[in-house]
Amino acid sequence: MTCEILSIGTELLMGDTVNTNASAVAKVLADLSIDSFYQTVVGDNPDRLKAAIETAFSRADMVITTGGLGPTYDDITKEIVAGYFGKKLVQDEKAIESINRLFDSLGRLMTENNLRQALVIEGCTVLDNEYGLAPGIYYEQDGKTVVMLPGPPYEMEPMLKNKLFPILEQRSGFTLVSKNIRIFGIGESRVEDTLYDLMTKSTSPTVAPYAKQGEVTVRVTARAINREAGLEIVDPVVEKIRAIFGENVYAVDTPNLQTALVETLKAKGLTVATAESCTGGLIAKKITEIPGSSDVFGYGVVSYANDAKMSILGVSESTLKKCGAVSRETAAEMAEGIQRLSGADIAISVTGIAGPGGGSEEKPVGLVYIGICGPNGTETHEFRLSRGRKDERAAIRENASQNALYLALKKAEAIKKA
Ligand code: ATP
Ligand code: MG
Repeated sequence: MTCEILSIGTELLMGDTVNTNASAVAKVLADLSIDSFYQTVVGDNPDRLKAAIETAFSRADMVITTGGLGPTYDDITKEIVAGYFGKKLVQDEKAIESINRLFDSLGRLMTENNLRQALVIEGCTVLDNEYGLAPGIYYEQDGKTVVMLPGPPYEMEPMLKNKLFPILEQRSGFTLVSKNIRIFGIGESRVEDTLYDLMTKSTSPTVAPYAKQGEVTVRVTARAINREAGLEIVDPVVEKIRAIFGENVYAVDTPNLQTALVETLKAKGLTVATAESCTGGLIAKKITEIPGSSDVFGYGVVSYANDAKMSILGVSESTLKKCGAVSRETAAEMAEGIQRLSGADIAISVTGIAGPGGGSEEKPVGLVYIGICGPNGTETHEFRLSRGRKDERAAIRENASQNALYLALKKAEAIKKA
């Protein structure tokens, strides 16, 4: 089976919108080993769209389009594709219902053109749109398959993953099983170097690292006739990689550090509190992103000024004078202060120089101290997070918050369950 991707939208041709949809669809095709040799972008123009569809079907068995399913005059994809197959468009009841429901809840009167969104090709499989009104379409005729997906990525991507992927997977006759190993504290190049043999020699499973926001994910993927058979191939390699990177593997198939931290704290009945200076609440923000974090997190203080460090957290004036606000001693007293206030099992503090100003030879931009207070006392960690680049402020704050979450997670793991 070969499949082409046809991205529809004048804004793509003009360079106003980056074509992320084509990339997302292409990844799915590659994952499923469906050959894809051409990608096309065409504007919202009926004649050129018609020609693009004819060309694509002259080369491929399947065409996946994105864009132009909405209610406005320039949304013409369905009409043109239905015309290509010589089919009529009919109203999809479920889509009409959700359009009505939306307008009722908004207390607004629906305009006629909104009903256009509920039109689908007669006899097609409707792909429900969980995040918008225009449903997607999967339609097969005379050995040709067309799939129409909406343009907005937040509608397109869930439909691709949840509705289309299972259909394509079934057609391709096998299932794809993968696990994501999350690694923190080791750079991508070292991960790649260590796994070089596995990555290059192993085709089933495939092993591929991705770096994002200071962490590395290694994805282990196998193709198999069912999930069980896939896991038999994937799991031993996951265990091997876990053994190689030891405690730097902080989780498997957990989306991020904050989720791993909140889950671990919950499982052990522990709580955490934060006292932040240079991260300005970033750690608290990340923890509270996780639904249910109120079970494990109650107190987070931003103590940016020395005054705040003293009056809220009880950091001593002499420590600040003698050692400075960015020091192991201050980090320790901040963590101890928030632990006293909150009674949390684990307290995290961060103090550092995010830059661009404020650095000195002795204390350069990127110097960060993290304090961790647990049931057995306080420890402090020093980090040098500058890479010598311009505009590093955001990167330093981000990196500091990730290190703090990682240290808190390791502390939580080390505490014996109550
Ligand atoms: P709507 O119901 O919102 O009109 P639609 O299915 O008709 O959705 P379009 O009108 O073509 O889709 O595009 C809507 C928006 O989606 C565009 O303004 C653009 O921001 C985004 N979009 C469209 N195509 C792509 C693409 N290929 N990659 C990334 N974003 C896209
Ligand atoms: Mg539109």
